[in-house]
Amino acid sequence: MRILLVEDDELLGGGICKALQREAYTVEWLTDGKLALSAALNEEFDLVILDLGLPSMDGVEVLTALRREKCAVPTLVLTARDTVQDKVTGLDAGADDYLVKPFELIELKARIRALCRRSLGQNTSCIEQGRIRLDTSSMEVWLDGTVVELSRREYALILEFVNHPGRILTRQHLEDIIYGWEGDISSNAIEVHIHNLRKKLDSRLIATVRGIGYRLNES
Ligand code: CA
Repeated sequence: MRILLVEDDELLGGGICKALQREAYTVEWLTDGKLALSAALNEEFDLVILDLGLPSMDGVEVLTALRREKCAVPTLVLTARDTVQDKVTGLDAGADDYLVKPFELIELKARIRALCRRSLGQNTSCIEQGRIRLDTSSMEVWLDGTVVELSRREYALILEFVNHPGRILTRQHLEDIIYGWEGDISSNAIEVHIHNLRKKLDSRLIATVRGIGYRLNES
């Protein structure tokens, strides 16, 4: 999953990035409102975490502009303002949830999982897809009931497949999900991860769609 974090507090932003990367999210971090709006409109994110007090463009303005452009990306607002009116303004501008600073990272992570579940129409942290079961809160993966040890990136990949069963995922999409704005990735990085996933799971689980990408087989 790929998250856009918009937070101009260096310490807080850095802490959130580290915590989310440990959970296998790909996090793109911006500190400026206008740049954030442009990124959110032009690229695909699973979630936006948006601070309200930002340079160049206020978080509420960013959110209002996003919704005006019909961008429905789930958005979690971070705010130091904890009056009821501030919360109402954020929610009315199109926020899906909000968190008042200071907050515990464990709560942020739980709210992110809840928002992602909601946007995918899932009810619990356990996702079952054919022979695979995956728990997004513990980051555990089972094949036919047996735990499979995966690397952070392998986990991120299989989560993407399980969240979109039957859909063909292009190599470009998978690169964006796994590496984001990170430069310098080898041209066959995704192939290598897929190869390893097939070895650890079952070689028949992920099908290659020639010239396009990959798809999770139903059984
Ligand atoms: Ca701020």
